[in-house]
Amino acid sequence: MTITLITGANKGIGFETAKQLIELGHTVYIGARDVERGETAAAALGARFVQLDVTDDASVTAALATVEAAEGRLDVLVHNAGILADGVVDGPAALRAFDTNAVGIVRVTEAALPLLRKSANPTVVTVSSSMGSFWAVTNPERPEFNIPLTLYAASKSAATMLTVQYAKSQPGIKFNAVEPGTTATDMTAAYGFGRPAVESARTVVRLATLDEHGPTGTLQDEHGQLRW
Ligand code: NDP
Repeated sequence: MTITLITGANKGIGFETAKQLIELGHTVYIGARDVERGETAAAALGARFVQLDVTDDASVTAALATVEAAEGRLDVLVHNAGILADGVVDGPAALRAFDTNAVGIVRVTEAALPLLRKSANPTVVTVSSSMGSFWAVTNPERPEFNIPLTLYAASKSAATMLTVQYAKSQPGIKFNAVEPGTTATDMTAAYGFGRPAVESARTVVRLATLDEHGPTGTLQDEHGQLRW
């Protein structure tokens, strides 16, 4: 049985990723910051629920302690929780964006590492974004070139870099970042574009189900490796 934890999985891409991994036989813990939203989603999915706010150290520690007490290990961790931070650009907004999209990855990874080391095939997937790719945002041929999401892009660059640095410092654990594809979720609702989350979740699932010979330290989308 594969034990999987997905942050921010009460809706959107995280919810669909949970659904597909459960169909593949994983025992999935969905992390959600709001108890009611999390319990409702877990009941709908047949998943376990843990309260997990990636901006709150105590919440993260308690969530991983729950997984440890019940399972003794963690095989797959998906950093999915994220915010768009598309409003005003100032210090407080920057702190919020980086706290959720980047520092949250550090909190959850550090709390999860002892449990991941007990797995026979530990795998971490960071749902990052091609908005954090220097190559994409400086390439006029790419849609990211014209999207002015300053704080989101910068915090996703940090998310991807954290993935690369963890891949280097934790050679026994696979760490890969993923651009899931532009997706119609609550995050993008104001813009009115994107494909169904069920399609984007397939790329997350592909990276979450790598065998022990799979790549580490990559940024990928549905077509394979993306440039930095
Ligand atoms: P949604 O807004 O639908 O889902 C975001 C999830 O993150 C929600 O469950 C939300 O919980 C949760 N979340 C936000 N802050 C926290 C927190 N502090 N602690 C725990 N959970 C939190 O967006 P998507 O499904 O679209 O986004 C999922 C991931 O995919 C994000 O990392 C996003 O950046 C990334 N992504 C999305 C793209 C898109 O086109 N949609 C494209 C590229 C990347 P709550 O319900 O409580 O707010």
